[in-house]
Amino acid sequence: MVSIVKMNFEEKRKQLVESLKERGILTKEEVIKAMSIVPRHKFVPKEAESSAYIDSPLSIGLGQTISAPHMNAMMCECLELSEGEKVLEIGTGSGYHAALCAELVAPESSENPGHVFTIERHEGLVKRAKEGLKKTGYDKKVTVIHGDGTLGFPKEAPYDKILVTAASPTKIPTPLKDQLKEGGIICIPVGSKSFSQNLYTIKKLKGNFDSKKITGVRFVPLIGEYGFES
Ligand code: SAM
Repeated sequence: MVSIVKMNFEEKRKQLVESLKERGILTKEEVIKAMSIVPRHKFVPKEAESSAYIDSPLSIGLGQTISAPHMNAMMCECLELSEGEKVLEIGTGSGYHAALCAELVAPESSENPGHVFTIERHEGLVKRAKEGLKKTGYDKKVTVIHGDGTLGFPKEAPYDKILVTAASPTKIPTPLKDQLKEGGIICIPVGSKSFSQNLYTIKKLKGNFDSKKITGVRFVPLIGEYGFES
């Protein structure tokens, strides 16, 4: 048996994907493919590289984290992302989840590539995420914006899908309601600032919002005008 320490990143990534499949977290072919391709180790700080394929959140500085891979997988599956879609992510962090979404909406072979817009409130993380996306070639498929994501990004609205990767006090921050397309899906953790939260998928149908609880989660808070106070 090959020791986990000696395995290269590709082998470790393959093993992580297999374990997420066995646990029933990864089920959709396209999401399995995206998680098998995107190099998570290129989005974490150098000192955390060796832990990149452990199913755990990791510190990325400024008190923030890159989510655990099972959470990335679960959220991508819930969003039902498909080629050609326009996605808005609130909470860029490392840029990894944005790259995963880009792999789903704008795969290499696509004749109708979609695009991912992602917003981060910490300037230092914006810089780091841009570096990771450039290193991995996703910079052409992902636009990183510095600002308060609770306001959305009206300039490019409406979006097919919206992904919020920080815990919100309300099911949908008001500006995001208008920026989601009819038939679109938002995936968002909702709850308290102190990690007692649930993940929801909410579908916009004829102007109404139909929500479904997925599971209990622990996310850092969404700080902003329509989020928590800092
Ligand atoms: N999606 C990220 C990744 O792939 O690494 C992980 C996100 S981390 C769990 C949550 C991020 O949301 C943090 O980087 C935090 O600074 C950011 N955040 C919190 N409130 C925000 C807001 N109002 N607008 C934009 N970003 C926000």
